Amino acid sequence: MRPIYLDYHATTPLDERVWQAMQPYWQSRFGNPASAHPYGWEAQAAVEMAREQVAAALNTTPDSIVFTSGATEANNLAIKGVAAAYYSRGRHIVTVQTEHRAVLDPCRYLATLGFRVTELPVQPDGLIDLEQLEQSLTPETILVSVMAANNEIGVLQPLAAIGRLCRERGILFHTDAAQAIGKIPLDVQALQVDLLSLTAHKIGGPKGVGALYIRRDNPRVQLVPQLHGGGQEQDFRSGTLAVPLIVGLGAAVQIALAEREMEQARLLDLRTYLWRELEALGEVRLNGAWSPRLAGNLNVTFLGVNGAELHKRLQPVVAVSAGSACSTGRPSHVLLALGLSPALAASSVRFGLGRWTTKAEIEQVVAYLQDLLPALRRTRYTKV
Ligand SMILES: *Cc1c(COP(=O)(O)O)cnc(C)c1O
Repeated sequence: MRPIYLDYHATTPLDERVWQAMQPYWQSRFGNPASAHPYGWEAQAAVEMAREQVAAALNTTPDSIVFTSGATEANNLAIKGVAAAYYSRGRHIVTVQTEHRAVLDPCRYLATLGFRVTELPVQPDGLIDLEQLEQSLTPETILVSVMAANNEIGVLQPLAAIGRLCRERGILFHTDAAQAIGKIPLDVQALQVDLLSLTAHKIGGPKGVGALYIRRDNPRVQLVPQLHGGGQEQDFRSGTLAVPLIVGLGAAVQIALAEREMEQARLLDLRTYLWRELEALGEVRLNGAWSPRLAGNLNVTFLGVNGAELHKRLQPVVAVSAGSACSTGRPSHVLLALGLSPALAASSVRFGLGRWTTKAEIEQVVAYLQDLLPALRRTRYTKV
């Protein structure tokens, strides 16, 4: 038997309904949306419907959505694209230590080209200090990039307040919403967000597709494309559109949006139950603020156990990770930014609950931990 899957921040299974929506576009409706004949037209119609579905989730218009290969590409296009378009106005970018590598690494790359990059620290609860953000902004600042929901500790950054600070100063505001889309309300008008990255595979969609929202007016965002070629996607992102994947993205966003409130309430119940049970075991610490936080996220440190041993014993029973899936083996930069030591970071567990997580599964995980933890602590103390 395979372990119980509690790694929904890494990826999710494809929803059966998304699978059904995608099916025709792999074979019978195979046209290139750029072709001027019925094969192209039916593919184009499907792409435009997906664009409307994504736009609706963000309270924007379809012409502000550009399809990409995922959130990594969307982040790269937003950050490098803004840097290349606005460098004559200023060369300072502000981001946060707890961002995903797909934000931090493009920023660090730009630093090698002569941009100044501020990586703001976070408070012990994982949230940024708005005053500190405000103080970091200068007339040279062209972009602020702060994620909506953290992929390790689930905390939600104060987007509306950040949007206000940026708008007042004419600074562009980008947010990586890979973990937030379909889970919390994301209205780019209310939040004053100028660029927003998202991906399909964290919400029951296929891997390899995502989108970037690019504000069209007040202000109209300029971006230098990072892929040059056929001029698709208003020249922002060349390359033949991945029609079946885009259809899957649209369907996944639409389903997540329609079921958001009920599903998030269900996950919050499961997550709360899991945390109460772990708390009852004693010697556990919650990483990141309890609220505001994604309903399906719990990140805890188990004190007095060896991290490697803990994860080795968890592996066959429950699929979780210590940090993000992409940085396996190294201590999580997010947990270190919260002030944890490398040893405490290693004995931390990210539980990611999602659409197919059941109460019975959580009960099994709790029962296993109730046996495992005292055993691990005994061996640890006898060894010392
Ligand atoms: C998963 C994730 C990404 C990367 O998305 P891909 O579509 O896999 O490239 C970026 N940022 C965050 C916060 C994520 O959780």
